Amino acid sequence: MSWIKKIAFLIVLTGLMGGVFFGFFFHRREARIQKESWFVMGTICTIQVPGPPELRAVIARALARLEECDRKFSIFIPTSPVACFNRSGQAIDDPEVVALIAKACEVSSLTEGAFDITVYPLLELWGFYGENPRRPRREEIELAQKKVGWRNLVITNGQVTKKNAAVQIDLGAIAKGYALDEARKVLLASGVSNALINVGGDIYALGKRNQQPWKIGIRHPRRAGLLGTWEQTGRAVSTSGDYEQFFIQDGVRYHHIIDPRTGYPATNLVSVTVVGEDATLSDAYATALFVLGPEKGRQLLLEAGSKAKVLMVTSSGRIIPFRWPEGRLRP
Ligand code: ADP
Ligand code: MG
Repeated sequence: MSWIKKIAFLIVLTGLMGGVFFGFFFHRREARIQKESWFVMGTICTIQVPGPPELRAVIARALARLEECDRKFSIFIPTSPVACFNRSGQAIDDPEVVALIAKACEVSSLTEGAFDITVYPLLELWGFYGENPRRPRREEIELAQKKVGWRNLVITNGQVTKKNAAVQIDLGAIAKGYALDEARKVLLASGVSNALINVGGDIYALGKRNQQPWKIGIRHPRRAGLLGTWEQTGRAVSTSGDYEQFFIQDGVRYHHIIDPRTGYPATNLVSVTVVGEDATLSDAYATALFVLGPEKGRQLLLEAGSKAKVLMVTSSGRIIPFRWPEGRLRP
């Protein structure tokens, strides 16, 4: 081989190897997922973003936004506007909290009170805020029901006040969804358009995971493992189930989603999954549909003009899809 050929060969070889290394390096960077979990809102919150380690700072900012939401909406943080309202009746004037309460009241109006953030006294009576939940006596339930009713909330001049001093708020059915939407906004504002955000089971599948949609699974309401999985991009997925917080007394399962109209845990369904455009409403609707049951639930979705896809599971294990392609767990 002449020396010119040798040099040309070396140049080509170096170029090829460089290309292979370059490709490998960037492929590795692309394929890497940055994942961080914090314990916020009484649950595990995880954000995954495909890309380089520098993204961890953005993830931390999104998780910090969840903490900020918790400080505003929690009934367990004594300084939160909601806790102060519950304890002493202090008016709520934080615009973000007022707006979320107003949204919850819209869902109450649409569901004729099946969804009601003033269920607090009933959850307290059933012991779901403490260590030892128990089935109350009927008279106790009737007494607590007198303290429940979203129409006792007054929203005027950017403030929430109460008509009845005994009324207390619990945003547990909607705040996680709202916080999830806020975390998503933080990511998008920082240029992150692919992420999987999980706030204690309420999920947002933002964009894709390395060119592939995110894989989502629904827990089986009665067995270990999953009811099914599917691929999802650009939607919120919220599930309400009777298996999250429950106790069994005299062979009966009592759980934390209460029908305000009866004062007892709702019995129509065991699991409801809602796939929608925003997590705030998906979260609220999952709880609302759980209380309403399949027929009234369908009515709600049509009346609200919702485009959500819904999968309901009855206690006998029957799967009831709404706008959800039947036979396959693939929205
Ligand atoms: P999870 O929080 O377990 O994911 P949900 O989103 O369904 O499940 O929220 C359940 C919570 O909603 C309860 O812990 C309670 O705080 C609240 N809640 C219970 N019943 C109702 C109801 N009828 N309307 C509004 N909120 C409710
Ligand atoms: Mg909910």
